[in-house]
Amino acid sequence: MKRFAIIAPADSSSAARMLAEPHRAALAGGVDLLDTLKQNLAAPDELVNLKALGGLDRIERAPGGGLRIGPLVKLSQLAAAPDVRARHAALADAANAAATPQIRNLATVAGNLAQRPRCWYFRNPDIVCLKKGGTKCYAVAGLNRYHAILGGGPSFIVHPSNLAPALVAYDATLTILAPDGERQLAIADFFTPPTIDPRRENILTPGRIITAIEVPAPLANAGAAWLEAREKQSFDWPLVSVVAIIALNHAGVVEYARVVMGAVAPIPWRAPAAEKILLGARLDRDLATRAAAAALAGAAPLAHNGYKVPIAKALVRRAILRAANLADEPA
Ligand SMILES: Cc1cc2nc3c(=O)[nH]c(=O)nc-3n(C[C@H](O)[C@H](O)[C@H](O)COP(=O)(O)OP(=O)(O)OC[C@H]3O[C@@H](n4cnc5c(N)ncnc54)[C@H](O)[C@@H]3O)c2cc1C
Ligand code: SF4
Repeated sequence: MKRFAIIAPADSSSAARMLAEPHRAALAGGVDLLDTLKQNLAAPDELVNLKALGGLDRIERAPGGGLRIGPLVKLSQLAAAPDVRARHAALADAANAAATPQIRNLATVAGNLAQRPRCWYFRNPDIVCLKKGGTKCYAVAGLNRYHAILGGGPSFIVHPSNLAPALVAYDATLTILAPDGERQLAIADFFTPPTIDPRRENILTPGRIITAIEVPAPLANAGAAWLEAREKQSFDWPLVSVVAIIALNHAGVVEYARVVMGAVAPIPWRAPAAEKILLGARLDRDLATRAAAAALAGAAPLAHNGYKVPIAKALVRRAILRAANLADEPA
């Protein structure tokens, strides 16, 4: 690993200006950044320590009952915050399911969204695949057990963040600060599919930093569920995760539906076909099963990851029913 210095910005604007220099990188909790330095995926001379900035590690109530989450809020803090647990339970559960308690005490919300993918070809310092500027995706004909079943190509990574699908489901907005000013964007527009550029996963370019994450208040009658399947129960990235947000009217008819999957595609993968089947229909197990089938209708697994399709279908169905507080199996 190349030697680097750590420098402290005076405020967010000077952090953005410092980071406009490509020989620098933003340091938050350091969990993924330090790994990428060891794996020669990045070789900055200086790390701009965002933890030196005050006030970016708070969760505050926003007008209208939403949340304003600072980028330096830790996953453990997000998971435990009473306001988050009460109104955005799927976000709290997604944070609580990530990694280990020790990592959750270090890892920040912005760092979690900007972490690099886990593809073993990408993480191997000796392999130069498409994502590192090479000419080939080694996962296509190689070991692709953990890769994308939806939206893949030309890179088949899955987005590794637990928070990403939850924040997409809750319609979060990010504030991005750059040397030329600040702008807000819907979190769904933060992630970039590999068809746009296989070398990147989001719109962050030198000088752009996340300074806030705003999550609107959910509908009063909406319920939410986060479910995941993973290989190791102790700690691991999910094989598949699902967030469902469902609101029913007094007759049990779906008034609002959001279904977003994680770990199945290079970006958090919303399932509009499933939402369409749900909206306006009376929710029961059969409807949830049909919605789950629609969510996976476009799946195109590689040679070794077809097992993800039935797992994802089962989790989508269960998450929809759980969000609506309905039992998955007949009593
Ligand atoms: C064993 C293990 C298991 C894990 N399991 C999971 C899991 O199940 N689910 C999951 O979601 N994650 C998992 N992770 C990943 C972990 O959650 C992330 O590495 C962590 O959240 C990154 O946050 P950080 O604050 O440490 O970011 P850093 O490592 O400091 O930064 C990561 C990236 O984000 C950039 N960055 C940080 N803050 C900002 C900002 N404000 N603006 C712009 N760019 C910024 C950095 O420059 C860097 O490129 C696991 C990690 C380990 C080691
Ligand atoms: S999936 Fe992406 S990161 Fe992995 S080998 Fe292919 S191009 Fe590289």
